[in-house]
Amino acid sequence: MLATDRVRKVHIVEVGPRDGFQSEKQFIPTATKIAVVNALSRTGVPAIQVTSFVHPKAIPQFIDSEDVVAGIDILPDVSYRALVPNMRGLERVLPFRGRIDTVNLMLSVTESHNRANGNRSIDETLHEIAGMTKVAQGEGFAVSGSMICALGCPFEGRVPIERLQDIAGRYVDLGITAISIADTIGVANPKLVYDTVSYLVGKYPDVTWNMHLHNTRDLALANTLAALEAGVSRFDGGVAGLGGCPYAPGATGNIAT
Ligand code: MG
Repeated sequence: MLATDRVRKVHIVEVGPRDGFQSEKQFIPTATKIAVVNALSRTGVPAIQVTSFVHPKAIPQFIDSEDVVAGIDILPDVSYRALVPNMRGLERVLPFRGRIDTVNLMLSVTESHNRANGNRSIDETLHEIAGMTKVAQGEGFAVSGSMICALGCPFEGRVPIERLQDIAGRYVDLGITAISIADTIGVANPKLVYDTVSYLVGKYPDVTWNMHLHNTRDLALANTLAALEAGVSRFDGGVAGLGGCPYAPGATGNIAT
């Protein structure tokens, strides 16, 4: 029996307001951001990544994260999440417990992209993630960890599966049991996705796995099917295919929700 026969329900996280908006050069007015999130809340998606609590110097688009989170309607059947790159960002999210329920932490799986993204080593990032996880879980937030560039890095190319297994294991050791596998620049193919995801799901069957697929080569839908076959049923999507990565040259939009 194919895994797609067993997966009866696919869980979508709408990431357009974060991954999409961060790629827009022009500032999107706060009221527009709120209106988009409110409209998305009413589409039936179970989860929305509302914004990123990144330093506004790094991504000026998110200078109004607090106002957006404070201004959106909170619907009871929708999970609202925020990307949080560091402890300073986490401190900004803490007052919003009750509006934001999940913090999404992140780590690039290659040293060169992790430096481009956060100007530090993977070990340094993991050290901070350990502290952030303790604080966030202590304050009642759910925590997830993303493996950025897991299926290909703009600087280092293909990533060895041992590296992914190692980082997944380190997330699990920190008490993070929801992990997202990100094809940040959209260079994966269905065979790579199937092989990688099957392997990781086999190694860590208790982890709640999620896919974050960009559509650079129009393969995100085929890659989604491959991930379904490998046993994953949770997927990020960007409304209208918005998305990108300011620290990954060549990255294009997410798979359209
Ligand atoms: Mg992305």
